[in-house]
Amino acid sequence: KIEELFCQGCGVAIQTENKQEPGYVPNSALENEVIICQRCFRLKNYNEVQDVPYTDGDFLQMVSQIANTKSLIVKMVDIFDFNGSFIRGLHRLTGNNKVIIIGNKVDLLPKSTNLSRVRQWIKKEAADLGVTVQDVYLISAKTGQGFDEVKQAIEYHREGQDVYVVGSTNVGKSTFINYLINDSVGTKDAITTSYFPGTTLGFIDIPLDDHSSLYDTPGVVNRGQLVHYLAKEDIKLITPNKEIKPRTYQLNSQQTLFIGGLARFDFIKGERQSFTCYFPNRVELHRTKLEKADQLYLDHLGTMLTPPGENTAKDYPKLVEQTIKLSGEKVDLVFPGLGWISLSGEPATVAVHSPFDVPVSRRNSII
Ligand code: GDP
Repeated sequence: KIEELFCQGCGVAIQTENKQEPGYVPNSALENEVIICQRCFRLKNYNEVQDVPYTDGDFLQMVSQIANTKSLIVKMVDIFDFNGSFIRGLHRLTGNNKVIIIGNKVDLLPKSTNLSRVRQWIKKEAADLGVTVQDVYLISAKTGQGFDEVKQAIEYHREGQDVYVVGSTNVGKSTFINYLINDSVGTKDAITTSYFPGTTLGFIDIPLDDHSSLYDTPGVVNRGQLVHYLAKEDIKLITPNKEIKPRTYQLNSQQTLFIGGLARFDFIKGERQSFTCYFPNRVELHRTKLEKADQLYLDHLGTMLTPPGENTAKDYPKLVEQTIKLSGEKVDLVFPGLGWISLSGEPATVAVHSPFDVPVSRRNSII
């Protein structure tokens, strides 16, 4: 039985009962000289995909108190999963504070990507969701690309005030915070404990100067994230570790492309044309006839059409179809958490299939 153990990283009370709750450590880790909770452990060894969900109540209470502060909000999103990683309702919770967005994982975009179009797209999507942003910065928390610019931007926009970094799980927030810690101060001094009154949440506090700090808030779990529907081994496959290589298909109408077994694209009507696919290199694409597609999916989901793998295929949500008519715009059809298909700009009627909570959206082409 544990009595009054606290995480040496964030100060949260240590418990060994529930993996899903804050402060969890496995029993075996109690032997260690320095005990840190799973979340802080991840901060130090950040290369693992793992959710540490906090109860919505706690989280909302905490975030709504950010509205009462005078601060700069730094919202992190995953460029490959904008829709899945954007926290809905953020505008109501952050008050009148300024917001900047950091789009992470820019290292995965093909070199030919027009980054200013990516920024415009993010800005517009945020505005459509009711959030006015000061600016959008693209970084790679992994390589450090764009990092100096973001640091300067934070310094500029915060006007001497505190900074709150918010984001859903898996956007790369821990990686970014780690980078900040290693970059600015000695790790040991940087991490202190902070609590919002009325919540049980402890979180990372990095002093910026004598009067202000940067706070790392706990990651929120968003329903619209594809990763929640997949097993660990599947997540590995759809998590790109290298720049995405485009794969181009010349399709006739009435042909279908399967993106593993995760999503589907039908070219219904139009002249023969090319479709360029930007998906993680390890996810296989399969071309087939539209008329055969439904049966193929029934017969081969989890075997030929994978991920999801054989064991998880039965739990993968049903695909929902959405028809899109294009009269010649150069657009990308974005599959959140996966990638996108770039259309050549000829008239076409297509259908996209994805899980209900992970709808496909369109944007102006970014290449
Ligand atoms: P958190 O849940 O928001 O704290 O996310 P993590 O920092 O744990 O990162 C989630 C996953 O994304 C991990 O697999 C990281 O290795 C990966 N990741 C984070 N930042 C980057 C990045 O800039 N580029 C790439 N390619 N992967 C990243």
